[in-house]
Amino acid sequence: MFIDVHCHIDQYKNIDGLLNDDVKAVVGAAIDFESGEKLLSICRQNAGFYAALGIHPEYSGNFNQLEAVKRQIEENKDEIVAIGEIGLPYYSLEGMDEMEAKAVYKRALHVLDELLSLASRLQKPVVLHAIEATAYDALALLEKYRIESALFHWFEGEERALSRLIEKGYYVSVGPDVLCNKAYDDFVDKVPLENMVFESDGPWEYAGEVGVPAMVRSVARHISNKRGISLSRVESVAYENTCRLYKRFF
Ligand SMILES: [Zn+2]
Repeated sequence: MFIDVHCHIDQYKNIDGLLNDDVKAVVGAAIDFESGEKLLSICRQNAGFYAALGIHPEYSGNFNQLEAVKRQIEENKDEIVAIGEIGLPYYSLEGMDEMEAKAVYKRALHVLDELLSLASRLQKPVVLHAIEATAYDALALLEKYRIESALFHWFEGEERALSRLIEKGYYVSVGPDVLCNKAYDDFVDKVPLENMVFESDGPWEYAGEVGVPAMVRSVARHISNKRGISLSRVESVAYENTCRLYKRFF
């Protein structure tokens, strides 16, 4: 069985068909308070859906929701499997002038610091958006709060950052982008299977196709073919990794 470890369940118009015989569980990640409320309600009504709550770092307009999201996490701490999507901005800084980018990044560091402190106190795994050089700041904060379990979702960056997160026993989720982006696919070659889990990050689109959890099977097959490891082995290692990451069975 496959698990989609990172998907924006609440952003689909219709969740029918997101689970199938292959993909029996999907972990949804909220991007803000409202998205978290919607996600919680979907997870309460539908077996196989699990929630992570947080503030997406690329939407700095939501950083003022920090206190509300912290309360939301506390109030639902027994129900959620992780805190996420949290992390540090990268893409959204590209269009900003240097002063503004610096100010936004500083605020993002504060939001991440607060949410990791909460994760540490509640002993929750975290789902991180921290690509390229932002991974070093994220790693420093994970260390500060002694976070044991972390997922660097759709991670791409320097080999040195990858080695450090592997050393810490953190996980990297690999998604359908490996099927349509050669540079990313080449990067994924460096991720050991022991640290790998699968995601769709849906409904993000891949080559014009809406991302859905079912795509994780194609991603796993791709890894299996490329590495010459049987699909069932890739499937079982990723399943075990997912259980360790989220500290639960699915
Ligand atoms: Zn995401």
